Amino acid sequence: MSGDSAPPPAYTVSERRDGGGDAAAVLPDATRTKRTRRVFHGRIIHSKSLKEIEILPQASLGVDDTGTIAFLDATVTSAGEACAKHKGFTHAEQITLKPLQFLFPGLIDTHMHAPQYPNMALGMEGDLKEWCENWTDPIEASYTDTAKAHRVYREMVRKELDNGSTTVAYNSSIHREATNVLADTCLEFGQRAIIGKLCILVGSTHGNWEASATQSIADEAKVVAHIRRIDPTGKLVMPCIQPRAGSYVPPELMRGLGGIASEGEGHNEGRMRVQAHMCETPLEVSDMHDLHPGFASYADMYDHYGLLGPRTILAHCIHLSRRDMDVLAKTGAGVAHNANSNTCLTDGWCRVRELLDRGIKVGLGTDCSAGYSISILNAMRQASNVSRHLTIATDEAGWKLSFEELVYLATMGGAEACSVDKTVGNFEVGKAFDALVVDVGLDDNINTNGWERDDMALLKKWVFMGDDRSIRKVFVDGRLVAGKDL
Ligand SMILES: [Zn+2]
Repeated sequence: MSGDSAPPPAYTVSERRDGGGDAAAVLPDATRTKRTRRVFHGRIIHSKSLKEIEILPQASLGVDDTGTIAFLDATVTSAGEACAKHKGFTHAEQITLKPLQFLFPGLIDTHMHAPQYPNMALGMEGDLKEWCENWTDPIEASYTDTAKAHRVYREMVRKELDNGSTTVAYNSSIHREATNVLADTCLEFGQRAIIGKLCILVGSTHGNWEASATQSIADEAKVVAHIRRIDPTGKLVMPCIQPRAGSYVPPELMRGLGGIASEGEGHNEGRMRVQAHMCETPLEVSDMHDLHPGFASYADMYDHYGLLGPRTILAHCIHLSRRDMDVLAKTGAGVAHNANSNTCLTDGWCRVRELLDRGIKVGLGTDCSAGYSISILNAMRQASNVSRHLTIATDEAGWKLSFEELVYLATMGGAEACSVDKTVGNFEVGKAFDALVVDVGLDDNINTNGWERDDMALLKKWVFMGDDRSIRKVFVDGRLVAGKDL
């Protein structure tokens, strides 16, 4: 389909402004907010493995003044007792959770397109190609307007944090300045983020491509340098390189991006992070082979250019060959499973069970705006449904993801796919405190009457029925950055 439909209307930021109550659920300038020693006491829930959710009905969790989890203690009966017991916490702030509240790790979105945020819920009548040409290319191309990036990204990062996404792997647009704005915004609002400039040379419409491979590579390097400058430790904002997909990036550019990847991330050892799309539709796979002839598989192409490794996030991975899966398993690349997007664009069903069985890392992504919800709770529900559709289609029960697996994918699995699992994902002592205070006793969609003594039921009701109203406090790296109870 030609991309000649009318462009979407100009984006208008809502009337919501900072200034109190639920309407101002995110704290700007979060990086300047002082951390304090805190002790939480009450119901604490996190994922230990794909098979195990640990629920501690009465426990204390201590966070030190560097934002690090100092202890998780299930033997104490109050925050005061924990403060007296643990050295250095005598004067810590004490937070006792209400009977229907619990502490849960921050949610991790492994794939989200920041510039597409205004298009959410629009354009899903077509397939991937039609959607790209009629909706995605025009709006992404419009970010030559850096002022628009300021308006959209501030609204979006606030919403992401409201919804409990403490770490997000963002795709940006082809624009260096707009991408820098995205990185600045995440740092200002205190969100952990992986960000790079999108690289496109061919296969796009509406002028949504770059002038040359040389310029694309130079601009990507400048974005990496900007992110290293604003967050030298890489604790919150981490740079990455971002070839959109094999069908958009010809060999010369792919080779150049591989060169940047091999230079490393700068602030610690290891290769540069990479985000890219892979095997979203059969047409996208064949377009890749047309542009990159001679490779045994899609994954072999990325691997050839040095773009696959433990710090690579590959979105979709639906139409994988056995060879693709072998290469993913060998290189340690992670998969972003975008169940909502894959259903909306009728791309297909990602075979998550097969990926997990092969030891391939999997996290959940919202992939807005091909997906219509920025909530990882929604991504969990959609991942559950897609796995059940596979069972319906094959009559094999093994495809179904268990509740324990869904919780893992939304937290620890996402951390592994983003290669931040040593830092976040659960409440292991020594990790950074990225966490949500969740309340399932409110006047919202969650009906808890009768379930108050069943901790797992409370968690299930939140995952399947909750929304941002139940997310009362959001902490990233020990700082309170968002939530309805700011
Ligand atoms: Zn995507």
